[in-house]
Amino acid sequence: MSVSVENLSAEFSDELHQINRRNTRFVKIAEEEGFSQLAKFFRAILASATVRSKLILTGMIAHAEEDPNYFICPHCGLVFMLGAPDKCPVDETLGTLFERIS
Ligand SMILES: [Zn+2]
Repeated sequence: MSVSVENLSAEFSDELHQINRRNTRFVKIAEEEGFSQLAKFFRAILASATVRSKLILTGMIAHAEEDPNYFICPHCGLVFMLGAPDKCPVDETLGTLFERIS
């Protein structure tokens, strides 16, 4: 079976869309049950996930042809290529604590 990068990207995109749709259900439930602050929090998480999904999909095709190492902040999930920073710019986690994906 041969799968193209475009096919794999499309399937991944569908999966992310389904995850977002399922999570949207929690916003509705929180609103219906009177947890307006929690509903707002869920909407913020979904908005963040949507941005990340777009970045992932944009990067997926470009990264299919490259072979960099990735470094993931264990606290916020920020992804760096090639090397970890001295400190995470979001939460100042030391770069030595980043998870290396190679
Ligand atoms: Zn971080």
